[in-house]
Amino acid sequence: MKFSDLALDERILRAVAEKGYESPTPIQEGAIPKILDGNDVMGVAQTGTGKTAAFSIPTLQILTEKAHTRRGHRTIKGLILTPTRELAIQIAENLDDYGKYLDLKYLVIFGGVGQNPQVKALQRGVDLLVATPGRLLDLMNQGHIDLRNIEFFVLDEADRMLDMGFVHDVRKVLKLLPSSRQNLLFSATMPNNIVTLAKGFMTDPKIVAVTPPSTTAERVDQAVYYVAKSDKRRLLKHLLENEIRGQVLVFSRTKHGANRIVKDLDKEGIDAAAIHGNKSQTARQKALGAFKDGSLRVLVATDIAARGIDVEELPQVIQFDLPNVAETYVHRIGRTGRAGSSGQAISFCETDEKAYLRDIFKLTKQKIDVIDDHPYVLADDGEPDPQRAIPADGRDKHKHPRNPEHQGGGGRGRGRSGGGGGGRGRSGGGRSRSSSGGGGRDRGRS
Ligand code: AMP
Repeated sequence: MKFSDLALDERILRAVAEKGYESPTPIQEGAIPKILDGNDVMGVAQTGTGKTAAFSIPTLQILTEKAHTRRGHRTIKGLILTPTRELAIQIAENLDDYGKYLDLKYLVIFGGVGQNPQVKALQRGVDLLVATPGRLLDLMNQGHIDLRNIEFFVLDEADRMLDMGFVHDVRKVLKLLPSSRQNLLFSATMPNNIVTLAKGFMTDPKIVAVTPPSTTAERVDQAVYYVAKSDKRRLLKHLLENEIRGQVLVFSRTKHGANRIVKDLDKEGIDAAAIHGNKSQTARQKALGAFKDGSLRVLVATDIAARGIDVEELPQVIQFDLPNVAETYVHRIGRTGRAGSSGQAISFCETDEKAYLRDIFKLTKQKIDVIDDHPYVLADDGEPDPQRAIPADGRDKHKHPRNPEHQGGGGRGRGRSGGGGGGRGRSGGGRSRSSSGGGGRDRGRS
């Protein structure tokens, strides 16, 4: 299928062609026609599948059609609710890209920055609002936002929204929307609480699922290093100096941990920056911008901050700490192996994290290469091999295609030689898109 088969506005097709997209991804192919037909749609898709475009493109088209009927002042007709500032910015970048030839005004609002520019932009008139829940409710309570004319509502990353405790905020917003409207909901997973939420506000939703919930990204090579907690910093440095080329996204479970990693790398002369909730919005955007344009080699992030990072062709992620929620592992490794590219996900696992690894195996049913030819191998800790938790039918998708000399190296502890992290590293690290400026930017082009 081609984009031109999707009954899209010629101006959107032109913008999409300029992005270099050749054909719609499966979530786009499934969702866009249903949305354009006026259905409520639930999309089950993790980041990296093209899901932002799957809702941004039809949102732009539908609002453009509605804008033709407007008289006088622009009123907010579309609302996209997303859990984090980074995601809000990413959506805005998508709207910028696909809507560049349209006469629509959209505005992105999120907390952590001054509200005045946002209020001024609202006063000038907006067709489409992209918002995080806290700032949206705040500005609504102050009387700056009127949602009475909303005809189109998108709830993005619904699972993350609930994980972050925004369920009450989402329900408050829903109560304030007019009852007659079209609704979209996108989520990487579809647990019961999301289904219940969806039933409460959607009408006969059509479901488009591109991957079964909670499966691991297909094109990602996964590896685990067993290592003592106290040696993780040294192992990271060793990998960055000897094994891995190019840019790396490093996950830390805590904000404090993220800062520590950056400090340690700095001491070793390795260029790194952290993004997490305690960093100012300016600092986050600066770090993200430098990472995206390739000038920053290592970005260290907590899960929530990392959620909105969209870097094309990011080859590697390292999980400095394993997450205690198995689904988070899937989200993390989904940062690499994004549309059209493949990636490598390395995890460090200390004794106490073996239980988390067992949960991950149970969820993904995929074996992970164990790398044991590094200088900081964990001494035998008496803990059983977490991979025994894999069911008998668990698939082993990782056959070491790039290191044939290690094939059949005996048992599960297959070592890998150094040099380029399996030949995957890029030097220099190409950039994707420029980072955005401050919050509350008025992106209208009329
Ligand atoms: P998302 O799942 O929305 O985070 O998108 C992941 C990446 O895929 C982004 O970098 C998009 O620019 C890219 N992308 C989205 N749609 C397409 C497409 N049809 N063809 C190629 N790349 C795409």
